[in-house]
Amino acid sequence: MFDKEEQSRIDTQHTGHRQDASGYDDDEPPSKPRRHPLWRKVPKKQWDDWRWQSQNAIRSVRQLRGLLPFEPEELEAIGALEAEYKLAIPPYFFSLIDVDNPNDPIRLQSVTSPLEAKSTFELEDPLEEDKDSPVPGITHRYPDRVLMVTTHVCTMYCRFCTRKRATMVRGGWDSVSRDDERMIEYVRNNPQIRDVIVSGGDPLTLPYGKLKFFLHSLRDIPHVDVIRIGTRVPTTLPQKLYDPELIDILESAEKVWIQTHFNHPREITPEVARVCKSLIRAGMPLNNHTVLMKGINDDLETMRKLMRALLKVKIRPYYLFHCDPVIGAGHFRTSIWKGLEIMEGLRGHMSGLAIPTYCVDAPHGGGKIPLLPNYLVSASDDCVVLRNYEGMLVRYQAEDKAPTTKQTANRGVSQLIQGTTTALVPPNSERMARRRQYIQDKAAAKEAACCSSESETPDEPTQDKRELLALPMVSAK
Ligand code: SF4
Repeated sequence: MFDKEEQSRIDTQHTGHRQDASGYDDDEPPSKPRRHPLWRKVPKKQWDDWRWQSQNAIRSVRQLRGLLPFEPEELEAIGALEAEYKLAIPPYFFSLIDVDNPNDPIRLQSVTSPLEAKSTFELEDPLEEDKDSPVPGITHRYPDRVLMVTTHVCTMYCRFCTRKRATMVRGGWDSVSRDDERMIEYVRNNPQIRDVIVSGGDPLTLPYGKLKFFLHSLRDIPHVDVIRIGTRVPTTLPQKLYDPELIDILESAEKVWIQTHFNHPREITPEVARVCKSLIRAGMPLNNHTVLMKGINDDLETMRKLMRALLKVKIRPYYLFHCDPVIGAGHFRTSIWKGLEIMEGLRGHMSGLAIPTYCVDAPHGGGKIPLLPNYLVSASDDCVVLRNYEGMLVRYQAEDKAPTTKQTANRGVSQLIQGTTTALVPPNSERMARRRQYIQDKAAAKEAACCSSESETPDEPTQDKRELLALPMVSAK
């Protein structure tokens, strides 16, 4: 059983940090380094070596039973799933699990669950990538970009993976194959392709020679502007990016953007902060996609914490994907309403830099379709009525032309359409209260100044004040 006191000792011994024994979720990411007691005696040099981490990854249910508490029937069920989908959890990532919590979000992403056998209508290739594949390994769906599957190997096998049909395959990834060359030829022969998403599996697991083949070949194609590497290595095995040779290879490809994949704020650790720094220093922009998953990040507070944590390590939140209907991942799927509820709580409440685009990947290869709460409330020939994050409704006239709408006595949104008022403000608007206070303070200061100079002239209300007084308040109920 995981012992927090023991963890605290490990942290002090190996990192110089003392772990707060109050629990995991209170840590503000990037939190402190962690070690499961099994690996407490591993020297730091070894712990920081990605080869050691890979060699010591948890790859079987037999290993898992010594590290986590399981009910006997649970063990039997996940044992039966072992042949279905690979298991691999590097000690670093495993150490982020709160072993006392069977619903721990890191555990849910990485450890086999009996619920995987209970999937109903989920699909092997939910995005129908294989049907948009002109040569093996390439998906060409959008006009100017392609996705390239370069390997079936990952450092950790995520239980929700959309590309399980590829990552379930074992072996065959060492040397450059004829299929690899065909993928490059396809990009070379299609000048409309500007952006290549190098994916997998995880391309950062490739042997360096093969990684160089892909990156340098793409770099040398003049019409390719962007090489996007989709990777979970920074999340699950950041030690791999401690290797200066790997950073050099990425830097030498010149056009590389890194697309990270973090799903929970506890995944943002000091180790992650360190590799983000190296990647940025080597000139690579960092963007993140997150998968919205039940029990992992389907609540506003977790998502806000994650977005804030990403910005702290200079990763730009880019996409929030609705979880695909992939085989064995049905238990992670939540409603679209949940996604919209989260987006409503992000936009306007946090820096625009922290707001990802919420997308559904449409069936039949329809691609990414963005979804957002409704900010367009009504419209006429003259204007639109828009809503902001506070619930304020405003009339917005986009074109410079004379109004055509006839004004009649009316209320509510119709008033805005007709132009008899320009905004409806919720009475609890903090921003308007601040403004009112500011105007009152200004007026009081002016009055005091007038009194002291014994001016007889009554003060005219300012334009600000006139406008503010004219705005109708609407009930928040
Ligand atoms: S790292 Fe990516 S490709 Fe690999 S299992 Fe996880 S989600 Fe799938």
